[in-house]
Amino acid sequence: MLHLPTLIVVSTLLNAFIGVFLLLVFYQRAQRSFLYWGLSCLVFSLAEISATLRVFIDLPVPTHYSAQLLMITAPLLVLRGILWYSSSKHHNPLFIYFILGFSALLLALLHHQPLWGQIYTSMAIATLFFAAAAAIRTTTKGNIYAATLLVLVTLHALVMLVQTGLLLTNLLHWEQSLPPWTKQLVLAVHLLLTTCTALVFPMLFFIRSEAKLTNLANFDPLTNLYNRRAFFYEGEKRLAQCIAKQQPLAVMMIDLDYFKKVNDQFGHDGGDAALQWVSQRIREQLREDDLAARIGGEEFAVILANTHQHTALKVGDRLRKAIAEGSFYWHHQRLPLSISIGVTCRESGHFDIKKMLIEADKGLYEAKSRGRNCLVETHHSDTTTASTG
Ligand code: GH3
Ligand code: MG
Ligand code: MG
Repeated sequence: MLHLPTLIVVSTLLNAFIGVFLLLVFYQRAQRSFLYWGLSCLVFSLAEISATLRVFIDLPVPTHYSAQLLMITAPLLVLRGILWYSSSKHHNPLFIYFILGFSALLLALLHHQPLWGQIYTSMAIATLFFAAAAAIRTTTKGNIYAATLLVLVTLHALVMLVQTGLLLTNLLHWEQSLPPWTKQLVLAVHLLLTTCTALVFPMLFFIRSEAKLTNLANFDPLTNLYNRRAFFYEGEKRLAQCIAKQQPLAVMMIDLDYFKKVNDQFGHDGGDAALQWVSQRIREQLREDDLAARIGGEEFAVILANTHQHTALKVGDRLRKAIAEGSFYWHHQRLPLSISIGVTCRESGHFDIKKMLIEADKGLYEAKSRGRNCLVETHHSDTTTASTG
């Protein structure tokens, strides 16, 4: 069995340390969620200190009352931090002030009936943790620490419901029917869960920093497509999969036609908006698994894994039409845009991404010389075989 006083001391100290660390993270990075989580850890430590003071001081306000109010404040701050973390939007803090004000008043009114005060406190904490679990569900995708936090917060909500049930047995004078260690166990689990939750917060910080760095390293900030470096890295993976499964594969090179004119006429901002619009059309026309990247100023490369020649030609032509027939507007004026495409396909065998890109580029060059807004397919023997547009 856990030694409760030791657990209280350890969890108070750990929460205080983690709280200070998270506040430092906030100070360094100005990420609001870490401010709220840091405060939540410190508030929880204070709540434990206030609750412990009961042993030494016989005054309800600095002990009982403040401990209960602080116990409610801690999950409120966790919830607010999660709302910031999952959407980074400013949420109205009114609900925090309302719950705090209401709780302060109710606990003051109930101070002659401490059992009712305890029942309200544990019910409020359970509700806040359920709300936090609902809020964090949007962030858990592919994030092991967010998923862990979801489990911890949900468990915590359930434990607080059990605590409410135990307090109700006291109210109904049924407590003799329960083993005496039940309440101690619930309190120990409550302290453990709080401390584990506090330990997960710093992990969320590292995950977020890593995700930001990966994003910066792999994605083009203007179009959100893969950049040149990531294209080759991800492309090699796609190629290896197709080789292993003996699947066909197609590579496309795409270049905007007369793009200099767009920049000259509508400025660099107009050109950038056109690049974003074209990137969106490219993404729309491809499958989720296809790889699309901006590999140069207004040049894009695409890898279609597990795709036969006839399908690749169809996809390429659909893409060409989507740009030529689509409507890009800049300051309420429609700007006609078009692309030229070079495609190369392999039914099976050993693919080499660089060689295939050179072949596709030859197709692109040919498409430009044929008047642009068209698609040309090339084979490794360099013979041009198909052209549409
Ligand atoms: P072509 O049909 O032969 O491709 O003619 P083009 O005018 O498109 O010629 P080219 O492909 O050489 O044009 C590249 C131009 O793309 C030059 C540069 O002004 C523009 N460009 C490159 N990167 C960017 C960018 O990030 N933003 C904007 N707005 N323009 C860019
Ligand atoms: Mg061009
Ligand atoms: Mg170009």
